[in-house]
Amino acid sequence: MDNFCKVLTKDGMVRALALDATEIVEQARRIHETTPVMTAALGRTLAAASMLGSLLKSPKDTLTLQIKGDGPAGGIMTVSDAEGNVRGYPGNPDVDLPLNEKGKLDVAGAIGREGTLTVIKDLNLKEPYIGRTPIVSGEIAEDVTHYLMVSEQTPSAVALGVLVDRDWSVKKAGGFLIQLMPGADELTITKLEWAIAHTAPVTELLEQGLSPEDILRRLLEEFEVEVLERGEKCYRCDCSRERVERVLISMGAKELETLAREQEVTEVGCQFCTQKYRFTSEELLNLVDSLRNAE
Ligand SMILES: [Zn+2]
Repeated sequence: MDNFCKVLTKDGMVRALALDATEIVEQARRIHETTPVMTAALGRTLAAASMLGSLLKSPKDTLTLQIKGDGPAGGIMTVSDAEGNVRGYPGNPDVDLPLNEKGKLDVAGAIGREGTLTVIKDLNLKEPYIGRTPIVSGEIAEDVTHYLMVSEQTPSAVALGVLVDRDWSVKKAGGFLIQLMPGADELTITKLEWAIAHTAPVTELLEQGLSPEDILRRLLEEFEVEVLERGEKCYRCDCSRERVERVLISMGAKELETLAREQEVTEVGCQFCTQKYRFTSEELLNLVDSLRNAE
């Protein structure tokens, strides 16, 4: 089922994306066994990463969105492929905080109000693109908006939301991203600001049964829009034994020999999906051999 939509206004002045990330965030919650506040923190970041990732141009590009603040969450790491399929993990999945003064999950309290947001775009060039801005609120949507304005010079409106149910499962999660394209005029900006100021939280719109396309059509009802893409985004980890081997090899021969000597079986877990990979001492020593032969 489609859970994503991307549109452009006919005049080319506004680009907008919306994502129903309910399934993605629920899967992340089950993998990482997050508390409600961490489900919200990780879920908002995953939704943002997916939408930013879906703006990448080539199929092999990837986007990393990392938020590192001084709060107990210990940072959030997310990665999106060029289709907007995402994976991620929290530094600490167990953070438990009282609701904030608005009666909401205290994401800013978990993330912290000091720190940095980093975006790394691997565009398969010599060097990846790296943009970094300070955290402005720790609520993530504002932080991503600030990054897009300061680092990418793109005026944007970002809304992100995760609604956690009583049994800690994800009831609704999603977001939208609206961007002014070069040449957008004052009237367009005024109309957009009004629409954004008068819209309900994104989780509420999803609860009403609106699809991502419905949400965009409602937000942009003053504009004629053209749908550029409808699709399905997933939680997806592409780890493999070969990839883990490459990580082990990058530790160097000495380190691997020490590991092989110390324990009969070395277990390496993928941080994104918690899949476990086991290597016997013999297998590790074979990797050392292949390293030495390559020298
Ligand atoms: Zn994995």
